[in-house]
Amino acid sequence: MKYYSTNKNTPAISLREAVIKGLAADNGLFMPEHIAKLDTAFFETIQNLSFQEIAFEAAKLLFGSDIDENKLREIVFDTLQFDCPVVKVTDSIYSLELFHGPTMAFKDVGARFMARLFKYFFGENEKLVNVLVATSGDTGSAVANGFLGVDGIHVYVLYPKGKVSKIQESQFTTLGNNITALEINGTFDDCQHLVKTAFTDAKLNEKLVLTSANSINVARFLPQAFYYFNAYARLKQAGVLEERELVFSVPSGNFGNLTAGLFAREMGLPVKRFIAANNANDVVYKYLETSEYNALPSVETIANAMDVGAPSNFVRILDMYNYSHKTISEIIKGYRYSDAEIKATVKKVFEQTGYMCDPHGACGYKALEEYISESEVGVFLETAHPAKFTETMEEIIGSGKIPLPQKLADFIKKERKATSLGKDFAGFKAYLLAQ
Ligand SMILES: *Cc1c(COP(=O)(O)O)cnc(C)c1O
Repeated sequence: MKYYSTNKNTPAISLREAVIKGLAADNGLFMPEHIAKLDTAFFETIQNLSFQEIAFEAAKLLFGSDIDENKLREIVFDTLQFDCPVVKVTDSIYSLELFHGPTMAFKDVGARFMARLFKYFFGENEKLVNVLVATSGDTGSAVANGFLGVDGIHVYVLYPKGKVSKIQESQFTTLGNNITALEINGTFDDCQHLVKTAFTDAKLNEKLVLTSANSINVARFLPQAFYYFNAYARLKQAGVLEERELVFSVPSGNFGNLTAGLFAREMGLPVKRFIAANNANDVVYKYLETSEYNALPSVETIANAMDVGAPSNFVRILDMYNYSHKTISEIIKGYRYSDAEIKATVKKVFEQTGYMCDPHGACGYKALEEYISESEVGVFLETAHPAKFTETMEEIIGSGKIPLPQKLADFIKKERKATSLGKDFAGFKAYLLAQ
């Protein structure tokens, strides 16, 4: 399969090239040229398959022409060493829990798949592939853990000194092996600037193979389609979909997750519609309401992984539906919630049902509670474990209520190691060349 750029000013390229490039030469995002459909017969018996088996069938459609089938099976099964279960919260609202992976956030799925795909394509290269990733917290940990121990690849995680939480920091500074943490004396934007400049520096690129593990990479966002299929299968198995249609509510920031859901639908998954649940960063909400799209600077909220003012994957959604506002606004409805509404939702759901939503998942929950009809069943994506936001959660539901999961406790116990660097590019470049 070839991948074209959403800007359509550069030739379509192979999957192998698209994953190493990340971004197209004309600054567009890569999209697969065709989206094939799974047979309707597949959906009739999907409930008899495991998550891994379902994911493999979807993966064959997406990547089967570029990867040997047995290898692809291995990649999928090894990526999904943890479950993405569907948990009942009320009679009409279910949580798709995406936090059972190593760093307890959904980004584990895409990052692990991407790492294994890199190994397949580049593991036997003579030259080491260097992955540079700037992080404000969660991306760095998912990427570092996804790539941990993968041959032929070295990961540099750049993070702003003093600006990520202890839990987050411990998830990428304690790994060692092929993961190096770089503590930058600056902001997240400084980190991102260093990474971007590195990709355009001629001398660095002559000496080193550099790539990003950005969420715009097709190897990261497409595998996120897998768990939508699983949610459908598990609800079908439970008999929930006999008289009702399925709606997904997706807490959104860069819109990678929602785009993956749209791919699942285009591949034939019986989804009636989607909800894009936002915090105060509402540019897509405004687009859906008015057909006008204007990127804005982001504003800080308690659902901070969704604090995005210019969602990078939005152009993929426009491209998929030929920029038709009519089509897009029929498939996706948008809602936005203030911090006060998010807090009230976390508290209410916990008190009424015993279920603990994190601040991101709570946006998804609230939109379902308000906007699904009796003929629909809603599934919201629970994108991270609530314990990743202990301070906010304890402020909302009271202290001592959130036990630290063993996985996170284990990270915190280990020794942290990072190399300190300034925010000037010359210093960063000299450091990379000396490795
Ligand atoms: C990254 C992230 C999001 C936003 O996902 P997008 O795919 O960028 O829309 C939502 N919740 C959590 C916890 C995240 O880490």
